[in-house]
Order: sequence, then C-alpha cells, then structure tokens
Amino acid sequence: MKLKPLKKINIKGTNWRIIREVEEGILGETVGEDKLIKIHHDLKGDRLQITFWHEFIHAVFSELYITAKLSDDLEEIIADNLATAITKVMKNELRKFTLEVKDE
Ligand SMILES: [Zn+2]
Repeated sequence: MKLKPLKKINIKGTNWRIIREVEEGILGETVGEDKLIKIHHDLKGDRLQITFWHEFIHAVFSELYITAKLSDDLEEIIADNLATAITKVMKNELRKFTLEVKDE
C-alpha cells in the first residue's frame, strides 16, 4: 500500500500545513503566525522523522502559548530530545507492540 504524504495535521483544534520546502541550510522550521511546518525536501528516514517531530513539538508549544515562556535554548533542548525519543519509540517499540489494552 502506497501511503500519501502528510500535508496537514490538527493540533489542539487548529489545522497546520506541512510543506517540504525550507530555506537552504536548515532542516525544518515552524511558522506560528502561518500555522505552517516546513521540512527540507531531501530529508528521509530517521532524519526526516526526527525533524518532523521536532517541528511538531514547536507547533504544539505555539498552540499552548508556551513558546514565549521558554528561552529559545530550552525549547530547542526539549524539542530535540523529545523528537529523538518519539522517533525511537515509533521505530522500535510500536512496530512490535500496541498500546491497546484488551481483555483476551
Ligand atoms: Zn527547533
């Protein structure tokens, strides 16, 4: 089955667009005013996943109005570490297990 590229995502009731173009020299960017996540068109695999989750976390923080309360450095540390952790869980654990809890 061929999957379609993710073009938009709903974050706390707001639709954010995802585009695969960004200024040269950066991997991704989140533009809060435009509700836009930009990701470099060349990224693939883990680097794409990590960059997507990194920008997604910036977008969530933007919707929560947390961005103004954090220093840029602290937000980058949180985004980098959560993005890496989420990518690892998605790749390793969620391929083998489900989060569903069912009585057998
Ligand atoms: Zn960032």
